[in-house]
Amino acid sequence: MSRALVFFGSRLLLRTADAGLRLPTVDELAEALGPERLAEREVKIGLRAPVDAPRIFDFEDRHEPPAGFRADGLRVAYHALEEADFRAAGTARQKLEFLRTTRFCSRCAASLDTYDGHEALGCPSCGQMHFPRVSPAVIVLVQRGREALLGRSARFPEGVYSTLAGFVEPGESLEECAHREIYEEVGVRVTNLRYFGSQPHPFPHSLMVGFVADWEEGHISIDDDEIEDARWFGPEALPNLPHPMSIARALIEDFIRRVG
Ligand SMILES: [Zn+2]
Repeated sequence: MSRALVFFGSRLLLRTADAGLRLPTVDELAEALGPERLAEREVKIGLRAPVDAPRIFDFEDRHEPPAGFRADGLRVAYHALEEADFRAAGTARQKLEFLRTTRFCSRCAASLDTYDGHEALGCPSCGQMHFPRVSPAVIVLVQRGREALLGRSARFPEGVYSTLAGFVEPGESLEECAHREIYEEVGVRVTNLRYFGSQPHPFPHSLMVGFVADWEEGHISIDDDEIEDARWFGPEALPNLPHPMSIARALIEDFIRRVG
């Protein structure tokens, strides 16, 4: 049964069923919205996913969800969907946003109405290629013996601490960014930086690049503009942790396995 990613602007339509939320099926949508209306709104964008990847439908933001559905920002989907479905939703959302906000060539102002399902938009007038934006950010678990350095931002849910993170600046390598961000946020120098893994983070278009590092020197001295607290935590006395699907959580679980 074919499932669907339906966007009302930046909101994703979810089926409310059995006290939970899930992606709707195409049949359910055809019944709720009308099959012709639905067919008009299908967008063929490649998700680089298995053959059963959800189909994608793009509606304007002014639409209201029909009975039995709700439409919310991706944060709701992040907490409600399985990882594969969330990944598909995040990818589709970023590609649709790119198409919605890249209507004219930024070099010669020609109309870019030639979308052909590829990853980028080519300008038919001057040839300039326009690519969706991806913003790399590093995220680092700093370890000192059997303790990990975790911080919290005022934006986090109450009691949640996470690994330190920050966006890469122009001209900077991922490694340089990791050292700079840690020093700026908590005044600590690190060494032995190792690559851990990466994860797309569609809020709105980040790519989180994870590292682990060892503490080298310095006491925690926080930058109040970025975070409100940072501490060393042992595996026996951890704070509330970030979302189970996040790379931050994977870094912390990996730390627990290593020192546990
Ligand atoms: Zn152009």
